[in-house]
Amino acid sequence: MPKLPLIVIVGRPNVGKSTLFNRMVGQRRAIVTDEPGITRDRIYGECEWQGIHAEVVDTGGIIPYEEDLMAQNILKQAQIAIRDAAQILLVVNSRDGLVSLDEELARLLRRTGKPLALVVNKVDSPRQVGEAGEFHRLGIEPVFFVSAEHNLNIAEMLDALFSRAEFKQSRVRGVPVGPSGEDEDQEEDQEGVNEGRLLRRRPGEIRVAIIGRPNVGKSTLLNTLCGKERSIVTPLAGTTRDSVDAVIEREGARFRIIDTAGIRHKGKTKLLAERLSVVLARKHLELADVAVLLIDAVEGVTALDATIAGYAHEAGRSVILAVNKWDLFKKTSDSTLLFEEKVRRRAKYLDYAPILFISALTGQRVTNLLKCVKSMAGERERRIPTAELNRFVNSIDFSRATVPVSSRSKILYATQTSVAPPTFVLFTNRASKFHFSFERFLINRFRERFGFLGTPIRIKQRMKK
Ligand code: GDP
Ligand code: GDP
Repeated sequence: MPKLPLIVIVGRPNVGKSTLFNRMVGQRRAIVTDEPGITRDRIYGECEWQGIHAEVVDTGGIIPYEEDLMAQNILKQAQIAIRDAAQILLVVNSRDGLVSLDEELARLLRRTGKPLALVVNKVDSPRQVGEAGEFHRLGIEPVFFVSAEHNLNIAEMLDALFSRAEFKQSRVRGVPVGPSGEDEDQEEDQEGVNEGRLLRRRPGEIRVAIIGRPNVGKSTLLNTLCGKERSIVTPLAGTTRDSVDAVIEREGARFRIIDTAGIRHKGKTKLLAERLSVVLARKHLELADVAVLLIDAVEGVTALDATIAGYAHEAGRSVILAVNKWDLFKKTSDSTLLFEEKVRRRAKYLDYAPILFISALTGQRVTNLLKCVKSMAGERERRIPTAELNRFVNSIDFSRATVPVSSRSKILYATQTSVAPPTFVLFTNRASKFHFSFERFLINRFRERFGFLGTPIRIKQRMKK
């Protein structure tokens, strides 16, 4: 998943943030991998304008209404997103006129030093633009007078925003199979362009994200892992100072546990804590090689677990599903089997993720967990030599694939284009896209032959010219 520039929508309640968000994200919401069963929050979305892609976050989705409305509080909760912003949009309501909370937000947002634009919303007719003139007093440039609900001036706003250099670089296309087969190249270029923003991994170090909803045991696991050995705590170059990692050396490897402050973060209300856990999971996934997704054995698999699991899958990271608090679970002989079935059902797309039953509190199987993380980190970096790969492709018994013959294409040649996650390009005789179940079939054969424990496998198709 190439990193896209992030547009952050900020403003007090009821100004129209979520309407604007929906307008910008439109139909393109679930573009990355729209597999069945992935549930979504409405915090993040993807916006595409004239072939340029950006990520949009509605901070109103992070900050629930029951929070008190001090500007500082709004921004504190939105900070996670603001820190990574390529563009902040301060939304105000033209109907209310300028209110002091808008002024306070503007003042605080200016201090972030991020590109800031003012969106005066609910300007439903041109006549109202004149009345909304007082907003220029905020001293923010540019100003866009829009109606999110009636789609007025939104195109002009996007034109202006996306003409900035930082956005122009993120021109990525969807991945339809075309005879030109240039999509992959563009995606790779894209990663190259953004390299400055991607955090380079230190060789020999495995970056680990501990993710999961509130109270599953993330900070307990962190404490158990680090214990007395928590000697080295260093920020990763390129991250902000308040994101502090713990580095531990065990099992003959160096593990960097990403953003210990984020793991320890405790939100004030349940809703806020839950939403922040999603935001943090996304952030941590971005920085990690391997994600440990904790699930509470006692509470079972919840919708929020499934949402976070969906993000883990999309991020292309290796994933371990760790069922925690196993010490509390009333066990019978087939408990693990039954629980495993439940997890698999709720997170079908993560079929490659091993499931471990642990207790972060007692330390049960925590060493196993680390061993597993270590071997998975190796697996996602594996490269299969082209000759071996093609011998394998030729040996596949395609008659076992349950795909209508009419939608089958012949694979002529295969090559691995990248690692982490392992990505293969298969050259075929036809331009028709692989049937979903045929891709499944292929991935299963790849796993049978090469393993790739814990990592997603990406398969791309190109027509041979
Ligand atoms: P948020 O709390 O900032 O996310 O605000 P919402 O997006 O939920 O919008 C608050 C209310 O304003 C809703 O009833 C929307 O239908 C309405 N609204 C949003 N945009 C516009 C607009 O451009 N014009 C008008 N007239 N109403 C709008
Ligand atoms: P976080 O919000 O995900 O960081 O969760 P915490 O680490 O704060 O854990 C929430 C609660 O669950 C705390 O009271 C922990 O002591 C408890 N807890 C965490 N892991 C385990 C475990 O493996 N077994 C038991 N019995 N309790 C646990």
